[in-house]
Amino acid sequence: MDMANLMQIETAGLRGAYKRSEPMHTHVSWRAGGAVDRAYAPADLDDLSVFLRRLPQHEPILFVGLGSNLLIRDGGFRGTVVFTHRALAGLLLENDSSRPEIYAEAGVATPKVARFAANHDMEGAEFLAGIPGTVGGVLAMNAGCYGSETWDVVVRVRTIDRAGKLHVREPYEYNVAYRSVLPVHPRDEFFVAAWFGFARGDGDRARQRVRELLAKRIATQPLGEPNAGSVFRNPPQDYAARLIEASGLKGRRIGGAEVSPIHANFIVNKGGATANDIEELILLIQTTVHRTAGVRLEREVQIVGQALKAQHEHN
Ligand SMILES: Cc1cc2nc3c(=O)[nH]c(=O)nc-3n(C[C@H](O)[C@H](O)[C@H](O)COP(=O)(O)OP(=O)(O)OC[C@H]3O[C@@H](n4cnc5c(N)ncnc54)[C@H](O)[C@@H]3O)c2cc1C
Repeated sequence: MDMANLMQIETAGLRGAYKRSEPMHTHVSWRAGGAVDRAYAPADLDDLSVFLRRLPQHEPILFVGLGSNLLIRDGGFRGTVVFTHRALAGLLLENDSSRPEIYAEAGVATPKVARFAANHDMEGAEFLAGIPGTVGGVLAMNAGCYGSETWDVVVRVRTIDRAGKLHVREPYEYNVAYRSVLPVHPRDEFFVAAWFGFARGDGDRARQRVRELLAKRIATQPLGEPNAGSVFRNPPQDYAARLIEASGLKGRRIGGAEVSPIHANFIVNKGGATANDIEELILLIQTTVHRTAGVRLEREVQIVGQALKAQHEHN
C-alpha cells in the first residue's frame, strides 16, 4: 500500500468537494490514464485558499482545467489535483481604467471568454474560442492559434501560493515563450485569474470571426475522437504535422492510440487507449522523426504521474 494514499486532509469547514483515488480519464480530453491520490474542487477562491493552507508542505499539487493538454500516467499521480473548471468561475467586465478589461477566473472555459468579449463589443479574443481549455490552462501553456497567443492579451494575473496567499503579478514577472510560461523568479504559485485587455470593436465582426475559425477547425482536426490537440510544438520554420506525415506515421497505431490520419500532430484514442499506449506512440514519433528528418520534436502536451510498472514495483 502506498503510504501517500493514507494521508488524511482535514476537510471540516471546507465547502468544496474532496475525493480520494479519483480516476482521471474522465477529467482529461484523451479519456485515458490513471487516478490521482487526492482531488479537490473548491467552492470558490476563499475555499481554495483554506484548502491549500491545510496541505502538507511537500505535497505535490497539480492544477487541472479541462485536461485538454494533459495525460496522467496509468499508475496515477501521488499528490493532490485541484480542479478549477466551474469552481473558479468569475467573469466580469471592469470598466474603471482607460480601457476596459475582462477579469476571468482560472476555471472559466476560454470559448466563454471569447463570447463574453464579443458580447461587449471587444475584438481580439476570438482565437480563444478555438482552444478547448480554461483560463488557467491557457495562461500556463501560453496557448494560441491563428497568429495570437494568450499572453499577447494578458494585462495582469492573479496567483495563489501553496500557503493559500493571493498575489497580483505583471507579465514582466514571467518568461513567456511559444507554449511555455515560467516565472522569472521560480515560485510555487498557480494561476487563479487574469485581467485581459482587448480592443473596443464590433461584436458582430468578432462573432463572425469565431464562426470562421471554428469551421476551419472542424474541417482540419479529428474532433470526433478523444485527443489533446497538438501533441508536439512546431519546430522553428516548420510544422510538426508535416514532419510526422513525411515520416510515414499517419495512421500508425499502438494499442488504442493512433496518429490521426486527419491531422498528423494529433494522437487520437480509438477506444481503450492507455496512457502508456499514447506515451509509447509519442516516443515512436520522436525517434522516427529524428531518424528520418534529423529534427527533435518537443512535446507540448503535459505528462505527469507514474507508469503502471513503476507503481507495481513500488507496492
Ligand atoms: C481539440 C483540441 C484543440 C486544441 N487546440 C489548441 C490550439 O489551437 N492552441 C493551443 O495552444 N492549444 C490547443 N489545444 C491544447 C489545450 O486546449 C491548451 O493547451 C489549453 O491551454 C489547455 O487548457 P486546460 O484548461 O485544459 O489545461 P489542462 O490540460 O487542464 O492543463 C494543462 C497544463 O496547464 C496546467 N494548469 C492548468 N490550470 C492551471 C492553473 N490554474 N495554474 C497553473 N497551471 C495550470 C496543468 O497543470 C497542466 O500542466 C487543443 C486541445 C484540443 C483537445
